[in-house]
Amino acid sequence: MSSQKRIAIGGISTECSTYSPLFQTEDDFNKIEGDSLVELLNFPFASFNIHAQPLFFCKSLPGGPVEAEYYSSAKDKFLKLLEAACPLEGVLLMMHGAMHVPDIEDPEGNWISEVRSIVGDNCIIAVCFDLHGNVTDEIFENIDIFTAYRTAPHIDIESTYHRAAKLLAEAVSGDFRPEVVWSSIPVLVSGEMSSTFAEPCRSIYKQLEIFDQRKGILDSNLMIGYVWADIKTAGASAVVTCSDQQSGIEACTEIAEMYWINRNNLNFDMQAGELDTVFKWITEEFSILADSGDNPTAGGVGDRADVLKALIKRGIQEVLVAGIAAPGIIKELQTNVHEPISIGNRLGGGGPIIKINPERNYIKNECAVVQFQGITIVLTEQRRPFHNLSDFIELGIDLNDFTLLVVKSGYLSPELQSLSAPSYLMLTDGAVCQHFDKLENKFRKRPLFPFQKPEEFVPLVSHKQLFSIS
Ligand SMILES: [Zn+2]
Repeated sequence: MSSQKRIAIGGISTECSTYSPLFQTEDDFNKIEGDSLVELLNFPFASFNIHAQPLFFCKSLPGGPVEAEYYSSAKDKFLKLLEAACPLEGVLLMMHGAMHVPDIEDPEGNWISEVRSIVGDNCIIAVCFDLHGNVTDEIFENIDIFTAYRTAPHIDIESTYHRAAKLLAEAVSGDFRPEVVWSSIPVLVSGEMSSTFAEPCRSIYKQLEIFDQRKGILDSNLMIGYVWADIKTAGASAVVTCSDQQSGIEACTEIAEMYWINRNNLNFDMQAGELDTVFKWITEEFSILADSGDNPTAGGVGDRADVLKALIKRGIQEVLVAGIAAPGIIKELQTNVHEPISIGNRLGGGGPIIKINPERNYIKNECAVVQFQGITIVLTEQRRPFHNLSDFIELGIDLNDFTLLVVKSGYLSPELQSLSAPSYLMLTDGAVCQHFDKLENKFRKRPLFPFQKPEEFVPLVSHKQLFSIS
């Protein structure tokens, strides 16, 4: 039996809107390490006679830019642990691809290239990305295996980890070296316009599985990119991990062309309209409204009260608004019992500030549930989504008591979709506004669809010289 091989696992994952005023610091990141990290990957490395050494994996709810100081200290800690784990035959990095750190043009590329400099050229580096990540030459020049999610909303996170882990395990134990080829595509839309549960992306992503069956192809990917970052590296890409470069280049070209050809068909996966318009569409039937411009799971601040203001103005009742971030609200409700409370813009996300005198309220799980003129509002101490049915149950809220649910969301989460209610995407303002013409656009490369209207595109596939394992 050959000697046991060693790999290290870890990474950093976040999505940063450059339109958010809220910087992310250490407190925003959840750090997974030790056995919990090995369990998160849940891959049978031992059956490949591989020891997987957990470093750490830091993950945050999407938000604003990451503070440079935190980025540097997290990276330094990671690299120190990596150095201590050497020598290594492999590394598995779990990244997102949409991190933004002021003055660092390509934080993921920077992180991965420093990993490479520590582990050396013979080590095989595999990465997993979110398909809403931006990718760069610096990333590809330093990796051997690339995999990304193939579903949005994401329901294949663990299986994506497994695709990367399996390729890494096979490469490490089989002594062969995979290669990654890539082509950027001058298209950049939101996740809501490229849901894999709607056309054209449903068919495009199905097609990736067929590419994988081709000889010489190990893993095919389409990166949609992250639209709410005004940075040079934002955009879509086709990325193929291959064992045969020529086959990889062909598949990569076809994926890039397939996405490009479909660019004019990219559209919201649910009925979408302005705030005023959406209110004309709703009926007596229980419906869900997604306040998309302030969606915290895409990097929105989550504190805006635009929709609440519209509900009050129209006198709409039996509504649940879940939630609006309002740090400090619990203390205020407990100490200034008869004072009006203010809702909106508490974190600098903008929009109206509304003052109300709650008729009733209760506090639970770091949330204040407030009732006012037939509207129930969940005010949260932390920025957070309400995407799971358990989020409501935990607060003692029964959705059957309402005819309208307003959530801060883009496309609906699988659990909210499972309610099969009429649902509408409200094209509201905020740090993740779906009106791209309203977004400042100083740094994105040009031309880039739909910001400009490029007419032609010929994929240019990049690759690197093959290393040979010594
Ligand atoms: Zn994503």
